Amino acid sequence: MLSKSQYTKYKSCPKHLWLYRHKKEVLTPPDEAVQKKMDRGNDIGRLAQRQFPGGVAISEAWKDPAAAVAQTKALMARGVAAICEAAFLYDDILVLVDILQKTPAGWNIVEVKSSGKNIKPIYLDDISIQNYVVSKSGVPVEHCYLMHINTDYFQTTEQTDWGQFFLKTLMDAELTPPQEIERDLADIKALLAGPEPPAQLDKNGCGGCEAYEYCWKNVPPDSVFEVFRSQKARDYMAQGILRVQDVPAGSCNSDKLNHWVEVYRTQQPYIDRAAVAHWLNGLKYPLYYFDFETCQPVVPLWRYSRPYQQIPFQFSLHVQRKANGPFEHYQYLFEGKQDPRYGCVEAMLKYIGAEGSLIAHHASFERGCVQHLAQDLPLPQAQKEALQHISSRFVDTEAPFKQDYLHPHMHGSSSIKKVLPSLVPELSYEGMPIANGGDAMNAFDLLYFGKLTKQQQAQLRADLLAYCKQDTWAMVKLVEVLRQSVQQSAGSGC
Ligand code: SF4
Repeated sequence: MLSKSQYTKYKSCPKHLWLYRHKKEVLTPPDEAVQKKMDRGNDIGRLAQRQFPGGVAISEAWKDPAAAVAQTKALMARGVAAICEAAFLYDDILVLVDILQKTPAGWNIVEVKSSGKNIKPIYLDDISIQNYVVSKSGVPVEHCYLMHINTDYFQTTEQTDWGQFFLKTLMDAELTPPQEIERDLADIKALLAGPEPPAQLDKNGCGGCEAYEYCWKNVPPDSVFEVFRSQKARDYMAQGILRVQDVPAGSCNSDKLNHWVEVYRTQQPYIDRAAVAHWLNGLKYPLYYFDFETCQPVVPLWRYSRPYQQIPFQFSLHVQRKANGPFEHYQYLFEGKQDPRYGCVEAMLKYIGAEGSLIAHHASFERGCVQHLAQDLPLPQAQKEALQHISSRFVDTEAPFKQDYLHPHMHGSSSIKKVLPSLVPELSYEGMPIANGGDAMNAFDLLYFGKLTKQQQAQLRADLLAYCKQDTWAMVKLVEVLRQSVQQSAGSGC
């Protein structure tokens, strides 16, 4: 039997389906982040079901498909308004429809996704196979919808307006025609009857795949995938060039890529000192090294916010008022159940003056958060203007590490988690109870929703403060490294 999830596995990567059917033991169980995403999907599924009054749910239909198919038929015959997890089996293909909604002329298929407005191709495959099986089962399908989350919905009231929270997008015009699905089904039969297919390695497509460890096990750590786009990297691998250092010198079509090849080949950094000096000259004292931690509630927790919006609940700030001056440290961390943004704004306006650069790594994130604070919250006009002024003064420490300062240990990445251990190895996140933004979000959830003892709360707060403080201190150290690089005598690097 083929399920709709197996069909979508095939559509995104045929090898994934082959492994799932023939070598399941090589697949790894979902990690905490993937599990959390799945749980979130289930929560949203339950919320969506409530939008269909009179709906009847078939529970755990996947455990006994034959019984679920019979129950679906019986409920349809009864003329219920909607069936959640309606089951259909045609030509040995099983689909469970999130919501099958009765209409005057037939039935609507509604597929629920917990994602935002972006419609991924795989959603279309998912709905298309449902439409195929349900139609072939003799059910008149009137329309197919994707029910997903309206990330533009700005909640201004205490209660969520579910009519605005959910988007129902008509998918009829995009559906895959039955002939094409039948071709896919024939290809699937041939695939499953054949030997293991080769992997189509893809940096983005393979990320989060349960076969990742298996498919990538022979890819060396300094592989061409670290620097090149997936198609180019696959081309190199087909030519037997596995490592960046083996790419012929000067053969790439951009200076940046040629510099990376040179860095891997020589194991020496590439530094464009003039460009780094130009970046440093753009910094204006006082320097405010600034970092937010944010939560991202799917369903808005507070007025004046949107689904999935990044909501700052903490910041760390290191301030240096003049060249070679001492550093001061300030911070903010939410308490209680109130909207953390108001406390955040108050503390920011207290500690950040009207002049000077704000320094952040991947600064577009912090800048965007500050702009939203100014735009979304009902603050006095003077505070809104002060926040807008702050947002206009961000400088990004990531910028020089994109092409002007390349280090062999950065593994082709400018993210702080790769740049910092390369250049400031003594400042490590290893062993810290909270060691990345995901951990910080989990800590927020525990503090906000969890039932912690006072001692547990105090410990978690201390861990959060230590993590965020390290983030801003890391930027202080990176700027020091950049300054040292331009002060060194010319001759190394570029
Ligand atoms: S890791 Fe990549 S190539 Fe392997 S099955 Fe998953 S998506 Fe396909």
